[in-house]
Amino acid sequence: MNLRDITMEDFKEGLEVTRTVIIPYGTVEEHGTHLPLSTDTLVVNEVVKRVAEEVKVFIAPPIHYGVCTSTSQHPGTLGISPATLRRITVDIVKGARAKGLRGFILISGHAGGLHLAAMREAGESLVGELEDIGMAVISIYGLVQRDAISIAETENDSHAGELETSLVLYLAGGLVKGRSKKEYPELPKPFIVRDKIKHWPGGVWGDPEAASVDKGRMLFRIMVDKVVGVVRDMENLRLTDS
Ligand SMILES: [Zn+2]
Repeated sequence: MNLRDITMEDFKEGLEVTRTVIIPYGTVEEHGTHLPLSTDTLVVNEVVKRVAEEVKVFIAPPIHYGVCTSTSQHPGTLGISPATLRRITVDIVKGARAKGLRGFILISGHAGGLHLAAMREAGESLVGELEDIGMAVISIYGLVQRDAISIAETENDSHAGELETSLVLYLAGGLVKGRSKKEYPELPKPFIVRDKIKHWPGGVWGDPEAASVDKGRMLFRIMVDKVVGVVRDMENLRLTDS
């Protein structure tokens, strides 16, 4: 049940079946020269659409802007602040709760540390304030981390690398423009540098050449299965959690 498409009557009837909603989070962010700026949104949105075909759950339109740090200076990245992400999360969850929803699964297609921290912070404050809700905050890549390592042929694969490229090849192959060169960022941690592009010119973390449609299909399936599991757990645990 996609909130984008259903009517108010459908919504009311849907509440008889489930009180859980999945809210996907993406970004507008550079993904090398070969993947679209909407990659994170695209992947997570396709996952939740498929999940909703397999289990009764509401899905919300994606929050298309996210918190980007390492890629903040690259062309095309349009980020928002953690404070904005927290506020929009709190507002949407409270709005949905007022309409009868009680289980909230926030899933991010973007694995940025500050981005996920903002989502978790909002989740924590909502759980503290509202005693009748269930809350899960998930990074879609964190959820499949072990499986991802076994599917990837290259080590230390991440942003716009082997697996993310595979997912976009599988889900929207027409949007993939060739392949960026293999690259790993050389950001001198623990320092926070001003000129991020100097240390990470191509904006790619991994080897896109190793990507394939099959790897994308495999990883996508695992993502869907894991999220279906979280929906079931939410439905089973939500009312007993205290
Ligand atoms: Zn991404």
